[in-house]
Amino acid sequence: MPERRQARWLEKSLFDYHLNDEEDNEVLNILHEYLPEDLIRKSFCFPVLSEFEVVRHFTRLSQQNYGVDLGIYPLGSCTMKYNPRINEEIAALKGFADLHPLQDCDEVQGLLELLYLLSKYLSELTGMDYFTLQPAAGAQGELTGVLIMKKYFEVKGEERDEVIVPDTAHGTNPASVKMAGLKVVEVPSNKDGIIEPRIIEEVVSDKTVGIMLTNPNTLGVFEDYIGEVADIIHDAGGLLYYDGANLNAILGWIRPGDMGFDITHVNLHKTFSTPHGGGGPGSGPVGVKAFLKDFLPVPIIDKDGDRYRLNWDLKYSIGKVHSFYGNVLVQIRALAYILRNGFEGLKKVSAVALLNSNYLFKRLCELEYVRPYPDNSKPRMHEFVVSMKEVRDKYGISARDIAKRILDHGVYAPTTYFPIIVDEALMIEPTETVSKEELDEYIQIFKNIMDEAVNDRDKVINSPRNTSVGRIDDAYASRPRTMKPSYKWGAGDG
Ligand SMILES: *Cc1c(COP(=O)(O)O)cnc(C)c1O
Repeated sequence: MPERRQARWLEKSLFDYHLNDEEDNEVLNILHEYLPEDLIRKSFCFPVLSEFEVVRHFTRLSQQNYGVDLGIYPLGSCTMKYNPRINEEIAALKGFADLHPLQDCDEVQGLLELLYLLSKYLSELTGMDYFTLQPAAGAQGELTGVLIMKKYFEVKGEERDEVIVPDTAHGTNPASVKMAGLKVVEVPSNKDGIIEPRIIEEVVSDKTVGIMLTNPNTLGVFEDYIGEVADIIHDAGGLLYYDGANLNAILGWIRPGDMGFDITHVNLHKTFSTPHGGGGPGSGPVGVKAFLKDFLPVPIIDKDGDRYRLNWDLKYSIGKVHSFYGNVLVQIRALAYILRNGFEGLKKVSAVALLNSNYLFKRLCELEYVRPYPDNSKPRMHEFVVSMKEVRDKYGISARDIAKRILDHGVYAPTTYFPIIVDEALMIEPTETVSKEELDEYIQIFKNIMDEAVNDRDKVINSPRNTSVGRIDDAYASRPRTMKPSYKWGAGDG
């Protein structure tokens, strides 16, 4: 493939730096601190390229990527829905894009009104009373929420340091608890994938700060006992934190506040269609019931008559968790999505997400070796989990192999190996923004791969072959400074 080789050559020369001069040593030292030796260029070659060469280079690079604009992206837990372009148009309006965060409140009344409105809509949708829009992601929302819980008991003068987290939880839940300096008490889910009141009763005590729950949980199963669990926690003086990453499943139908939760985060980049792109920026607003208002990060936006103002006067505020007001243009996109859909439209969003998820769930579980987890036919919510254990035991094909082979078909793979309690897990969330045709194609791809697992094993374990890079070193991705990479280019790459 001469074109490919040319692209490789261009990439090489574009980034071929030479850093031998005195003045460059400082830069080099910084580079050495952050990059492995073999990734730092030793020679310099300023690119002498024409415009079309540069355009072709970057276009080629962009075509090596896959995203929600290309097709189904059923990455369970991540809610990879299509991001409507109207959001982008609104956020790009000069009146928003050209604002400076240090402008006086009187000059940005319009913006403050919108942020206030967004807080109100989020309150209405979650059953909370007040929101902070500062946190930049769900995980940061969790930390904010746990810090609020911690401070609440400090102010009350109660010594509590335990947060209950089920074994189905997203890894960020226990991580947030630890970061806040509290202890994680893990509780097991039952064979139906949900937590039982008697398990909570066993661990709850006067040390309990509260519980963190995702509902529906990461198995796509609704926590049927949420009412009882809320009572147990509240009777023990604890608080309930709602991980709102799965809000897309219940939007407009039921509310965390009505299930008994006191604090909620919402991932705007999941449920409210703002881009996840490139690792951010995201937005994870946190809502609280009225009795926790004074603990929120400052400032929050309040309304006096017809004026909006920044309220810095929250008695027990945990402080700031983000500069200024969080990622404002992301918040504007989410508001555009809410207004464009309206309340009935948002209800339809979750209804269609559930319909798509259950259709895919039923059809995939008809295939041999695809086992639902939990192993029952109870309807799922917006996502579901299957175990590939049987095909691994019989043919040595792992969930990872299957996910990699799916990439060869030009579509994206499900989440793998999460939740960690499921052996060979694939976690699948189609969202509402795929058509039945796309779902049927996905089912057919899955069926073909399961046939290959039995009849053409090599094809599966040597995948992917049609992508720009082959199997990458997953462990390296999370430990870049202590390990050497061991990725290889895709087989077709030359
Ligand atoms: C995505 C997710 C989070 C973390 O949210 P980020 O916005 O990625 O930080 C937490 N819990 C669950 C269940 C999630 O799916």
